[in-house]
Amino acid sequence: MFPHSVSSRTARRTHVFTESVIREMTRVAAEHGAVNLAQGFPDFPCPEVLKKAARAAVTADVNQYAITWGAPRLRSALEKKYLEQYGMRIDSARELTITCGATEAMAAVLLALVDAGDEVIVIEPFYENYGPDTVLCEARPVFLRLDPPDFHLDVDRLRACVGPRTRAIVVNTPNNPTGRVLGRDELEAVAAVCREHDLLAITDEIYEHIHYEGTHVPIATLEGMRDRTITVSGASKTFSVTGWRVGWVVAPPDLTDAIRKVHDFLTVGAPAPLQEGVPAAIETLGPDFYASLASEYGKRREVLVPALKEAGFKCLWPQGAYYVLADCSGLSRADDHDFARMLAREAGVAPVPGSSFFRDRADGRTLVRFAFCKRIETLWEAGERLRRFAAAGS
Ligand code: GLN
Repeated sequence: MFPHSVSSRTARRTHVFTESVIREMTRVAAEHGAVNLAQGFPDFPCPEVLKKAARAAVTADVNQYAITWGAPRLRSALEKKYLEQYGMRIDSARELTITCGATEAMAAVLLALVDAGDEVIVIEPFYENYGPDTVLCEARPVFLRLDPPDFHLDVDRLRACVGPRTRAIVVNTPNNPTGRVLGRDELEAVAAVCREHDLLAITDEIYEHIHYEGTHVPIATLEGMRDRTITVSGASKTFSVTGWRVGWVVAPPDLTDAIRKVHDFLTVGAPAPLQEGVPAAIETLGPDFYASLASEYGKRREVLVPALKEAGFKCLWPQGAYYVLADCSGLSRADDHDFARMLAREAGVAPVPGSSFFRDRADGRTLVRFAFCKRIETLWEAGERLRRFAAAGS
């Protein structure tokens, strides 16, 4: 978020954030014929079972609005999945809302639960949406900085962020962009602060099945947290269908009532036939599928990280999600925006400027983010281009 030129005919709430830099970089990549390692979407097909079920739904004329808060089959499949996977008992009739992706979910949750003037703690570096989402509900984001190299969450620093107007904390693990998977001790610390200060935990768990170390622990399963946690996730990353826009929110009934109202007036509902495709996958793809999803991403990580290091970037091995936040100061003196564009133009590989993930642009000025949710061949090609670029510059 940073000031830029705006028309005086537009609402002030839109003046403090820009369009998504991630999506802008997709356009820059296309302009230069660069390998797009900017926007996190797979360049490989989704599992056939989803396509088959969605095709069948269209043919069977599931082409009108679904129930606003979600098609019954998808809600039942999710109720069963949360119970089997995490021992999390949810009533899909009263505690689950299907949304247009996790993006709409986060916006609807904040609009439904946060008042103007409230404060929301956002862990930094953060996924770029959380800043604008908070601004749209006229709340104030308070940033809790996690520092490299390990991006550990310090509970004292978290406590220092809490004030009389604090309403919620947004947690995203596995994390975009750092690749950090918060440990159980860190999540317990977040939970303790939420209980002490009567805060809500809004957790973006869209990468729940993509981790290379440890296990995914939903905050809602920690003691005393079920009633104060809003769990956001979706089909996009787990089933490689980012364009379907099928996400969801699990929240206690009183919070769900408000979330459903906002969701209803924002979008009416997520695409009806695609809401039939997702449960077909949840019902038929078992633990093996989720394990192989993570191990396939692990192989992609093993291509990209060494290629980045060899080209002169400094970076850590991500523990989860499918991004690498890399320091480019060894390659260039340019700031992250200029460097990302230069890399797209001259190396033919497009990353996202690191400042997109920080409140203060200066904090990300030597960083760029690469996504590795791409075919191995795509990553080899990107690695080759980066090596050539580094060799030409040295
Ligand atoms: N979550 C993905 C990313 O960080 C896609 C963002 C988007 O365009 N919605 O790249």
